[in-house]
Amino acid sequence: MEQQAGEDLKGRKCFRCGKELPPGSLIYVTQIRVFAGFDGILLEPEEGIEQQLEHLLKQVEESNPEDLEKEVYQEFTLILCKSCRDRLVDEIEHPWEGPFQIRRGPGRFIH
Ligand SMILES: [Zn+2]
Repeated sequence: MEQQAGEDLKGRKCFRCGKELPPGSLIYVTQIRVFAGFDGILLEPEEGIEQQLEHLLKQVEESNPEDLEKEVYQEFTLILCKSCRDRLVDEIEHPWEGPFQIRRGPGRFIH
């Protein structure tokens, strides 16, 4: 994982627009972590916990451990140029008014 991040840094291309980022230029490193959340609520299955456990164990046995790990936790390291960084931050702060919003004429809002 860490090695990969290092390679990404040397790639020096903006993840979003593909712009070359020559050495010494301003780059932004974005780290995204996606992991499974747990709200503390365990849903009691109809078939009973023991059967559910058996089910789960079987699933784990059949799954690729890497896939399983990815489902629980994944980390991305992205390199962005300044303008893509600005856009990303803007989209995170204002997800409802992103730059790709479909323009609607006045009076054409769907109710
Ligand atoms: Zn860019």
